[in-house]
Amino acid sequence: MPEVIVVGAGIAGLACAARLAEAGVDTLVLEARSRVGGRIRTFRPADGGPALELGAQIVHGDRNPAHTVLGPQPPAPRPEAAYVVTGRVARPMALLARGGHPPWLLESRLAALTADRGPSPADGPGPAAPQGPTVGTWLAGSGATSAEVAVAREWVRQTWAADPDRLSAAAVAEAVRQDPGGRGEFCVPGGLDLLPARLAAGLRVRTGTPVRRIETVADGTGVRLLTDDGEPTADRVVVAVPPAVVHRGLLTVDGLGPERAAAVRALAPGDGFCAVVTLAGTAPRTASVFDADGVGGFVSCRRGRPEALLVAKDAAAACVREAAGSAAHLGALLAVALPWTAGTEITGVETADWAADPWSAGAFCAPRPGSAGAAREWARPLHGRVFFAGEAAVIGRALPWLQGAYADGRRAAEEVLEAGKQ
Ligand SMILES: Cc1cc2nc3c(=O)[nH]c(=O)nc-3n(C[C@H](O)[C@H](O)[C@H](O)COP(=O)(O)OP(=O)(O)OC[C@H]3O[C@@H](n4cnc5c(N)ncnc54)[C@H](O)[C@@H]3O)c2cc1C
Repeated sequence: MPEVIVVGAGIAGLACAARLAEAGVDTLVLEARSRVGGRIRTFRPADGGPALELGAQIVHGDRNPAHTVLGPQPPAPRPEAAYVVTGRVARPMALLARGGHPPWLLESRLAALTADRGPSPADGPGPAAPQGPTVGTWLAGSGATSAEVAVAREWVRQTWAADPDRLSAAAVAEAVRQDPGGRGEFCVPGGLDLLPARLAAGLRVRTGTPVRRIETVADGTGVRLLTDDGEPTADRVVVAVPPAVVHRGLLTVDGLGPERAAAVRALAPGDGFCAVVTLAGTAPRTASVFDADGVGGFVSCRRGRPEALLVAKDAAAACVREAAGSAAHLGALLAVALPWTAGTEITGVETADWAADPWSAGAFCAPRPGSAGAAREWARPLHGRVFFAGEAAVIGRALPWLQGAYADGRRAAEEVLEAGKQ
């Protein structure tokens, strides 16, 4: 019997298990999917061309833990060939950088502007905390023109997988301020899935094993996990799955209680849909296009390659999902962002529908008013035996991305180690 079972082999679960293994704890990881990595999913073209990401894309920051974990194959700075679609026309992104405030600086402006305002209602004690001002409200009062606000609103949707009117300005600012990840954006040329593979090396991981239920054994000395091929027991368990999986009833944790059940409901992830579209021709230049019209999310291609990548969140995810069902529709959508694709035959489409995927149920959680309290409630250990980790647990205090998931896995491991001493 392992001392600790970690449920979920995403970055949080693997970071947790790696820390426990480092401390000499006998640890087993159970993973529902046939692979590790969770919301990291890398697509490798059949001809051996460069990897493309159907889930998490970017390593945010030069101090992101991914740099250390990946060691000899470190992330590389992302190519900066930026275009924007507005009014169904693609033009250079630099045109939007009026006044030194291009959309990608939004979060740091927000963090600086709200820094001295003290604790916000969004940091209240529970999921029912009162609502603070939203990012939408803040944008409306920012003094930008209506065209700039429209672009910024879509940028927020694509960065946070949420509508700005449902995002807490204070919680976004706090998450940005607390992030220790540093500056810059990086990609992993060999594929981002090298990150979970590196973390999983040397760990005992059983894939293809969904955990259906977690219950306390009758004498209270451990936990029992119900899976399709057995009922393993352990001293402690770390639940490193998205709370939305619990909300959908795919995993039952006994004794959650009404407050945590409310937190699970509050931590609903935003929509996300990605597609790699392979064409009969190749791209004349590398391009990274942000569709400010709200239809395609981020669209990119690489010089000399036949693939176009669409990464769409919030309302744009629904547009790309619908377009992916028809070559004509998809071709029309692509041709706006990448004019070279017009009239070029589509020869293959690989999609990742994160909202339809039962083991993610969405892209990631955004800091909505009240969700910082819900995240704290979700992360609270349950009767000293059940611990929680993952991107959703960091809402309001860190970025709900790879670095947040990694740090939270390590945090949960420390809690488990501390509990083991008592
Ligand atoms: C489209 C998209 C784009 C993104 N872009 C970025 C980006 O550019 N940069 C960035 O830093 N982050 C990005 N993210 C967010 C990032 O992917 C997540 O924050 C991070 O991967 C979450 O890790 P996690 O370990 O908390 O959860 P997950 O990766 O979801 O891991 C949870 C694991 O638990 C497993 N599981 C679920 N239920 C069960 C069960 N019942 N039994 C056993 N196993 C179970 C799942 O299969 C999964 O492997 C993006 C996410 C998406 C979807």
